[in-house]
Amino acid sequence: SNSLMAGKRGLIMGLANDKSIAWGIAKACAEQGAELAFSYQGDALKKRVSPLAEQLGSDIVLPCDVSDPASIDELFSGLQNRWDNLDFVVHAIGFSDKNELRGRYVDTSRDNFMMTMDISVYSFTAVAQRAEKMMNNGGAMLTLTYYGAEQVMPHYNVMGVAKAALEASVKYLAEDLGKDGIRVNAISAGPIKTLAASGIGDFRYILKWNELNSPLRRNVSIGDVGKSALYLLSDLGSGVTGENLHVDAGYHVVGMKAVDAPDI
Ligand code: NAD
Repeated sequence: SNSLMAGKRGLIMGLANDKSIAWGIAKACAEQGAELAFSYQGDALKKRVSPLAEQLGSDIVLPCDVSDPASIDELFSGLQNRWDNLDFVVHAIGFSDKNELRGRYVDTSRDNFMMTMDISVYSFTAVAQRAEKMMNNGGAMLTLTYYGAEQVMPHYNVMGVAKAALEASVKYLAEDLGKDGIRVNAISAGPIKTLAASGIGDFRYILKWNELNSPLRRNVSIGDVGKSALYLLSDLGSGVTGENLHVDAGYHVVGMKAVDAPDI
């Protein structure tokens, strides 16, 4: 059957184009009967996001820049005009100055540190505050993170520090909201070529490295992430909260890949 998400209403934040992780998740949810609303960052993205939303049968497309608290309030009041209840929210948003996604972490500026933390970390908590009020029958919240939070990855720098804070937020939010039947989880996705990823130095090399060294010997797609998101957002994940699910072809378990024994 195709009804894992039948009767569920969800807000998707962070759709930029059809390469976005948010698109993989939105499609997976819509295929299973979810009713969706979308937020987009600025006027430039509206013309990209509206037709994608329409493809999935949604006409709820609202602006939201998460660096502006008033804009987040407007998103949720706009959503409340259309829906009296929310079942899930997907936060697929991150940002940092791309000049600091290369070179040394130690050179991170204070201004970019604070902006990166605000947009990539605090925004999830800010969204959770508003979404909680619309989740009358419990719900599920999901954010996107990366292994650079756990281990040092080339060029990830301040974004790695931000993702570590985001992953900690997931645990605190899970505890706060669990009493109301709201589950809060993260997916730690392997590298995927998206708009945001293209800002990271040597991204093509990182992709190749993951393909060669992950247990599945491949990279993941937004479809892979979408399917795992479906598990966390639907009743299949009913017992799961505070979790960070790695959808990375297994890369995170490898200390060193086996090689044909060299002569040593
Ligand atoms: P993407 O560029 O398609 O999406 C990033 C989104 O963030 C865009 O829609 C952009 O509009 C939005 N955004 C940035 N600043 C914003 C702001 N101030 N207000 C509102 N929205 C804002 O790239 P993506 O790779 O799909 O990124 C989605 C999430 O997945 C991010 O959190 C990213 O860190 C995470 N992630 C990506 C990868 C990867 O390799 N692509 C791996 C792991 C995690």
